[in-house]
Amino acid sequence: MKTVSTAADLRNAVSAWREKGQRIALVPTMGALHAGHLALVDQARRAAGKVVVSLFVNPKQFGPGEDFERYPRDLEADAEKLREAGADLLFAPPVAEMYPPGFATTVHVAGVSEGMEGARRPGHFDGVATVVARLLGLVLPDVAVFGQKDAQQCAVVMRLAADLGLPVEIRVVPTVRESDGLALSSRNAYLTPEERKAAPALFRALLAAQLVHELGERKAAKVLKVFRLAIETEPRLVLDAVDLVDAVTMRPVETIDRPVLLAAAVKLGRTRLIDNLVFGG
Ligand code: AMP
Repeated sequence: MKTVSTAADLRNAVSAWREKGQRIALVPTMGALHAGHLALVDQARRAAGKVVVSLFVNPKQFGPGEDFERYPRDLEADAEKLREAGADLLFAPPVAEMYPPGFATTVHVAGVSEGMEGARRPGHFDGVATVVARLLGLVLPDVAVFGQKDAQQCAVVMRLAADLGLPVEIRVVPTVRESDGLALSSRNAYLTPEERKAAPALFRALLAAQLVHELGERKAAKVLKVFRLAIETEPRLVLDAVDLVDAVTMRPVETIDRPVLLAAAVKLGRTRLIDNLVFGG
């Protein structure tokens, strides 16, 4: 696996492969890699002959007071994991390479990016859409792979690719979890041992809500109530936000008569964790 840090080196490597008729997959990440990211690399390997992984802690998608500065960074360990996972190229640019002097474009995907996390983290999805658009432009992949863990991000990227007519297939990989249900996340590294023990209550609450739906409940308000009660069983978890929305449009639903996304954010001490489930329809 080769590592490059400039857009020019990235383009050269990728165009050489393309000239040989190789299909190319892109996996965008912010590093601090775990088995969730590696599941994306695995999916990418099945989808294409060459796999490019980008590693960039994107300042544009962090708000003031968020964890941009303390976000975990370990390029060498990440490169080793990617080598073992069979990635072909690691693109790890500095900020000035992703956003060179004069960079003036912001990509805003209206609708799907504006509710839920978009409303609570102003500018977050503009940052995501802008960096993803630039990465797709640099690599021109046949396939780009994202994780269901960030469900609204997936919806934003799909809308972006469709609206701009980008010739890329967006694939979504199911959330990879620890054996106790906690979704793998680079931010889990912030948790104290006690917080780590409490953290799976988030997934259990999502499952409880899904279960009442499976038992016949169709009213969103009732399903949300079960979710909230389940969260309250773990006093260390503070519910930050929960949404029950149409799985495609990300608009709130009152009746569960189609596939819905139940997505929540909780705080555990200083750490904010997110998770979601899709059900119904
Ligand atoms: P990040 O490095 O957090 O920006 O994540 C990079 C990609 O990995 C995104 O598409 C995430 O949705 C995906 N991802 C993160 N955690 C998981 C997980 N536990 N399971 C599956 N995909 C994940």
